[in-house]
Amino acid sequence: MIPKRLALAAFVLFNALIGASFTFAPKQPGTSKAIDLIVIDPGHGGKDPGAIGAVAYEKTVALQVSLKVKEKFSGSGIKIMMTRADDSFVGLYERAEMANTNKADLFISIHCNANTNKSAYGTETFAVGVHKEDAQLDVMIKENSSILLEKNYQEKYDNFDPKSAESYIMFQLLQHAYLTQSLQLAKKIETNYANQAKRHSRGVRQAGFLVLWKTSMPSVLTEIGFISNPTEEKFLVSGEGQEHIASCIYKACIQYKNEVE
Ligand SMILES: [Zn+2]
Repeated sequence: MIPKRLALAAFVLFNALIGASFTFAPKQPGTSKAIDLIVIDPGHGGKDPGAIGAVAYEKTVALQVSLKVKEKFSGSGIKIMMTRADDSFVGLYERAEMANTNKADLFISIHCNANTNKSAYGTETFAVGVHKEDAQLDVMIKENSSILLEKNYQEKYDNFDPKSAESYIMFQLLQHAYLTQSLQLAKKIETNYANQAKRHSRGVRQAGFLVLWKTSMPSVLTEIGFISNPTEEKFLVSGEGQEHIASCIYKACIQYKNEVE
């Protein structure tokens, strides 16, 4: 019998060679690119609450912050598209597809972190890619398990099991075409969190997030704080806290735009 890990690796490579589902758009990364359209992706929604805090759901905080980000861009000349603008359930690949179909220039997925250790706090922004630390498996499971609520998820995600460490090998085999730019944007978001909003930045990291896997533009997933930490949750649900976070994401995009255009 072929070991599962090997079979999966062969499958991913085969797909890459025949140009199937794991290839990315043929745009040339690294060239100067105008930033005209940004997709803002509020994590979870509908039947998927995401992480549950003492007073709020992750899906609600993510949507509120996302709407505030959208507001910041009004009059900026940059268009914002939301993957959801209300409490609806949207599949992870559908979110990426929306960005690809509309030829978005950036994709930003907004989430709240959670940990059984209630003292954990701070922000983290991820680009999709190799995970080197075991600790990140928790975050990947938490964010990718949404697919279990999607219809026909086995077919749609090629039998990807979000709860098995082995599934994540595909993220080690192929690099996202816009990894460098994604990390560049992630860095700016984290720097703004630390300097402007005075948050504790846990830094920029890489992990296997399905929502970022198939996008064909620089894409990040930002964890704006731990909803499981009572102090941080208070900040995350407050209008003022959400304004701070939204402003940091907006500023990071403008700084990124000024660098690449
Ligand atoms: Zn989430």
